[in-house]
Amino acid sequence: MTTPVAIVGAGLGGLALARVLHVHGIPATVYEADPSAETRTQGGQLDIHPNDGQAALEAAGLTDEFRAIIHEGGAASRALDQHGKVLLDEPDDGNGIRPEVLRGDLRRILIDSLPAGTIRWGKKLTGVAALGDGRHELTFADGSTVGTELLVGADGAWSKVRPLLSDATPEYTGTTFIETYLYDADERHPATAEAVGDGAMYALTPGKGIVAHREAGNILHTYVELNRSAEWIAAIDFTDATAAAARVAAEFDGWAPELTALITDGETAPVPRMIHALPDGHRWDRVPGVTLLGDAGHLMPPSGDGANLAMFDGAELGNAIAAHPDDIEAALTAYEEALFPRSTSAAADAREILELCLGDRAPFGLIDFMTGAAPQDTDTSRAR
Ligand SMILES: Cc1cc2nc3c(=O)[nH]c(=O)nc-3n(C[C@H](O)[C@H](O)[C@H](O)COP(=O)(O)OP(=O)(O)OC[C@H]3O[C@@H](n4cnc5c(N)ncnc54)[C@H](O)[C@@H]3O)c2cc1C
Repeated sequence: MTTPVAIVGAGLGGLALARVLHVHGIPATVYEADPSAETRTQGGQLDIHPNDGQAALEAAGLTDEFRAIIHEGGAASRALDQHGKVLLDEPDDGNGIRPEVLRGDLRRILIDSLPAGTIRWGKKLTGVAALGDGRHELTFADGSTVGTELLVGADGAWSKVRPLLSDATPEYTGTTFIETYLYDADERHPATAEAVGDGAMYALTPGKGIVAHREAGNILHTYVELNRSAEWIAAIDFTDATAAAARVAAEFDGWAPELTALITDGETAPVPRMIHALPDGHRWDRVPGVTLLGDAGHLMPPSGDGANLAMFDGAELGNAIAAHPDDIEAALTAYEEALFPRSTSAAADAREILELCLGDRAPFGLIDFMTGAAPQDTDTSRAR
């Protein structure tokens, strides 16, 4: 069997590409490792930026659907010191420039916008063979194979498509985010809910911090951010949730209890997310019939832009293919010429934001950034 356009990965980037192609009347097939859309919780709230995420959704013809899932009020942000003292408090000004949505809701509107059968669930790519003339044969974990004329790796950080284009592999940045959740926050954790406020809360010191976000549904979603070696993280047994939470909380000894409760009172086991990144400026020479988008092409530290960039890549690639219907190589060249400088610049911003959050000046680097005291962009929403 041959499919003209094969997209590997039904994350936000791959789905945005499939949808924009569909808008242009170009069929594509998305191969996703997860067995179904519901397999994993798609937790986390994302702020969607006008210049990339919102532009992508507009190209996808989904602006109304996106507006319908916005979490009103969620764009407030505040900075606290480790004793819970408020250093900065910025309410959601309601201007809706960078609205917050749940990642799962966003993924759902993209999935629902595709013709039935576009996404093949339970198709984990395990191998790719070049067939010549830009064609490839994909092999999946279930033993099935498919031929393709255009292969797009939208398969995230540990892309199986990337090696066709590049030898680069993601490296640990030295920072780990440990994720926890508190549910029914106003009723069950009122002091902590009060400390977090209506949107994002940053309590940062050099090398460590607690960043929490109030999500739709009265949920407090936390990333405990620690600059620690991979060995230090590996020594924590995260299968023992209570012990792991206590070990992480010990790093915050003396901090306000309403803040450390975000670690110790979580209703789910803490999940470590070791932050990896591809080299800044990652790029590749043109290889016929294959390209990358999103994290597969430019994995960078979280700065609140990765999902936006992935969707934008998808939309840009879809538009480029539509603009060169008879010349895939021209489409890929045009797409990559814009992709490389865009992602190089975003990666530099992402590393700078991580440094503002956890560097020597914490928390004041970030506060200056949030208030515009620093010369650069004042987009506080990107500080995640
Ligand atoms: C802790 C943390 C917080 C973040 N916070 C934000 C934020 O607030 N805002 C923001 O914009 N970004 C944020 N990001 C970044 C964002 O999550 C990513 O940049 C974004 O998800 C990338 O989208 P993608 O479509 O490229 O890849 P992914 O979302 O990783 O999707 C890849 C898809 O490919 C599938 N897949 C993988 N391998 C295979 C295979 N072999 N075969 C078939 N399918 C496969 C996966 O199952 C997945 O569905 C954060 C990242 C982290 C780690």
